[in-house]
Amino acid sequence: MAPKYHPTPLSGGDRRALSKELGKARAMANILATRSAEMRAKGEALIQQADKLLCESWNERMWSDGEPIDPSPTIDQAVNGGFAWLEIRCEGCRTPGDVDLAAMKNPRATFVHDLASRLRCRKCTTAGRRPSATLLQLAGQPRHSPTKA
Ligand SMILES: [Zn+2]
Repeated sequence: MAPKYHPTPLSGGDRRALSKELGKARAMANILATRSAEMRAKGEALIQQADKLLCESWNERMWSDGEPIDPSPTIDQAVNGGFAWLEIRCEGCRTPGDVDLAAMKNPRATFVHDLASRLRCRKCTTAGRRPSATLLQLAGQPRHSPTKA
């Protein structure tokens, strides 16, 4: 794109004033962009804290009562909050497992509780059974051998 054209004023005073205004506007553009970037970084840090708290809250509910599993964080919120692993237990064979949320093919906006019916234990699937999984906790690290989602 060609630079914007400002018609040159006839008087010297007006030319100086225009040049001053243009300089101010250009400096302002940079200041505002920097401020926007700073504000966005602060906002993202706050969102990350909010996501972490949401995961911790869900974990407390799962630990204390184990229900309701809905509402729960989304995959994106869990990963962003530092809880990229979901601990589950197969209802068929009671085998515990960890699901790597970051590696899941589901849309990032999928709620963690919606995964319950979709997660299958490898052992039981091999045996031709499809028991559901109980969701236990969100975690920062896997505790068991990873479960194929
Ligand atoms: Zn199983």
